[in-house]
This record gives sequence, structure tokens and C-alpha cells, in this order.
Amino acid sequence: MHDLLVRNASVLNPDMSISEHKDVFVDGNTISSIADTSAVSEASKIIDGTGKLVMPGFVDSHTHLCQTLLRGRTIEEWPMIWTRFLIPFESNLTEEDVYWGAQLACLEMIKSGTTAFIESGGIHMADVAEATIKAGLRAAIAKSTMDMGGVIPASMKETVDECMTATEELYSKYNGAGDDTIRIWFAMREVMTCSPELIRETAKRAAALNTGIHAHLCEHHDEVKFCLENYHLRPAELLEENGMLGPNFLSAHNVSLTEHDITILKKYDAKIVHCPTSNLSNHGFPKTPRFLDEGMVVALGSDGASSTSLSLFEKMRLMRYAMTAYWGIPVFDSRVMLCLDLMKMATVNGARAMLRDDFGTVEAGMKADFITLNIDQPHIQPTSSLLKTLVTNAGPGDVCDSVINGKLVMENRNVLTLDEKKVMEECTKRQKEIFARAGI
Ligand SMILES: [Zn+2]
Repeated sequence: MHDLLVRNASVLNPDMSISEHKDVFVDGNTISSIADTSAVSEASKIIDGTGKLVMPGFVDSHTHLCQTLLRGRTIEEWPMIWTRFLIPFESNLTEEDVYWGAQLACLEMIKSGTTAFIESGGIHMADVAEATIKAGLRAAIAKSTMDMGGVIPASMKETVDECMTATEELYSKYNGAGDDTIRIWFAMREVMTCSPELIRETAKRAAALNTGIHAHLCEHHDEVKFCLENYHLRPAELLEENGMLGPNFLSAHNVSLTEHDITILKKYDAKIVHCPTSNLSNHGFPKTPRFLDEGMVVALGSDGASSTSLSLFEKMRLMRYAMTAYWGIPVFDSRVMLCLDLMKMATVNGARAMLRDDFGTVEAGMKADFITLNIDQPHIQPTSSLLKTLVTNAGPGDVCDSVINGKLVMENRNVLTLDEKKVMEECTKRQKEIFARAGI
């Protein structure tokens, strides 16, 4: 008797081919086997997979859960969004606000097919961890650190020691929590708000705990200009000089990069995450095809919900058309950003960016982190390439079920781990209160 069986489904294989009429078995937190459909298989819980595709859950590889309650407030506003909205918003969040806002983010992620995320940091990260454990998502969570910067209020700055202690406390309490679904990482917000001493110490402490580092890098021109003016180095060179780069380094955004910067990141096997909605709203077009040519791990992120949805379906599609328009059209190349690569970026590459090789594909022996999609619908069938049609046509509403670490967290779009109605009510009330307190 197996724990869970998805019977008679199609399956998206690790090589991105699709098999039909398969039974997917889960035992404990692992996909125990995948076999041709049989009428006699038994399991404690059986999901009918007829007309469904079992595929790996998406990994949102750069997000900020505490910004969910800022939704709708930053779009079409004048600069600087960071100083006018983000700082007053974040500095007015209570622990309870973050707890409820993070649950709302988890709800949206689960209903959009995301089963894991990499949180780059905000405030009250223990509450983010608690909400994530309750929701049942897999996550690598970091606390934002800042020890300098003229526009940052004193209440948001900490000394290097305070930054390190806060993350180490979070690590000792939550790393491995939630049946080992939670990992705690270090974060460096960005070079304009983190001193070289903070960068060096973060690298040292992350190495001692054998964990990851998440940072915003080469996001926009101001950051590069600041670095050149103050250090006579580009941001990637500054991090290299201070010992931060390595295979455990996840670099978010990566827009204003020279060829030399790409060489540096490649040399250290740094992982790359692009956030198309924020890159294309404010910063520019990343050289994503170059990173893929170099064979680097490239993942996709939402960058939080303040001005976009958390749907990775949307990010894949946006990335496809943006890359084609910017890099493809000038040289008459329609293949600069393939659907196959986009699907890998949203799934297995996210797992690799999270420094994990035990989930991200649907195959026996991997952790059971997968979703089912209703593929028997007029915007999807018939198709001569289901994979390409999923990238161009599918959306969050097509996700039926979600299994994370072997646990069924959503069945028929009903999230089993969170009280959706209560979360919506609390968040609606709290958003108004926070905006009033912050004066935004
Ligand atoms: Zn970010």
C-alpha cells in the first residue's frame, strides 16, 4: 500500500519529453516509482490523473514575501520607489503583518503551481518561516542585511555583528525545520547598503555553516555607478575581492553586466536568477542567452508581489517574448530563448539555484514536489507540442493539485494547509492599516 498515487496521468520527464498513461507513486516524502497505468495499484490516497499532467512544481528563485501587502502601491509611481514606498512600508510592518502577508504569498504561490521559493529577505523573517511551514512550501529563507546607506533609516540598519547574530539565530531555530523543508541562508541586500566588512563577514559565516548567500547584483545603473565611484570596481569585482563569490552564491537580477562580469560569475559557478517583471519595468534586458551559452544555472524569480503576480507561468512567457524582441529580432533569430530552457529555468534550475539536487524533476527517487495541470482544455488541446503550449498558453488556473515533500497541500484548487478566507480578510484589513501608519 503506497501513501499517494496519481493514476493515469501524463508526466513531464526530466528531459522535457512527455509520457502518457503513467501512475506516479509517492511514499513518505519521495516519488517511489513511476509505472504504466494499472487498474490494481493501491494507495491510501488516489488522485485521478486522467486529463492531467504531472510536472515539477515551480521554484520562485527570488522573492520577498513581506512585500505582498504592498501590492498595487508601487506601479506607475515616480522614483525612487525604494525610498518613497518600500522603506516606509517595510519599517512599519509588525510581526503579525508579516505572518499574514507571507501566508497570502504562500496561498498565491500554491495556487499558481509554485512549490518552493528562495526568499531574499525583508524583515521579521521568523514569521516568514512560520507561515511557510504552516503552508507546507519548501524554501530557502534569508534575512536582509544593511549596515550603511544614506537613504536607509537608522531603524533598518544594523552593525555587522548584529546582522550576523540575527541570521545565525534564525539558522539555529529554523534550518531543517518543517520536516527539512526550510533552509536558512545569508543575504546581502546590495552593494550600496552593505559595507565591504559586512560582505566579507557574510561570506565567512555562510561558509562556516555550509549554506547559501542571496544578493541583488547589477540590478541597475545607480548601483554600478556607486561601486565605480566609491571602490573603482564593478559590483561583481567588489564581491570577488571580498571573497563572497562561490558555488553557494545566488545572484539576483544581473542586468548591468559586462562580458568580464559574466566571466567572473562563471569562474565561481555562481547561480543566476532573472526577475523579468522588475527587470523590464525598471532596469533593462538581461543577457540571459549568454548565461545559458556559458552553461550556467539560470533560474526565474518574481521579486515579490508589490507590482506583479507571483505566477511563474507569467514570468516564463514574459521572458520568452522580451528575449525574442530584444536579442532575437535584431538578428532575425526566433530561437534565442527556447520553451525547453524556460521550463527548466522555472523548475529544475530553481532547485539547483537552491543548492539542491534532490528535487526539481518528476522521477523515482526525487523528493515528491510536483503539481498536476488540467491539460484537457480548449486553450491547450489539441497541440503538436504540449511543452511549448504550456509555456505560451498555460496559467495558474490550470493547476489542480500540489504535492510538496510528499504531502498533498492542494487538491482540486482547494488549499488544504491554509484558511484562504481568513487570510484574505486579515490581509485586506492589515493593508489599509499599514498604509495609514506608513503614510503611503
Ligand atoms: Zn529583490
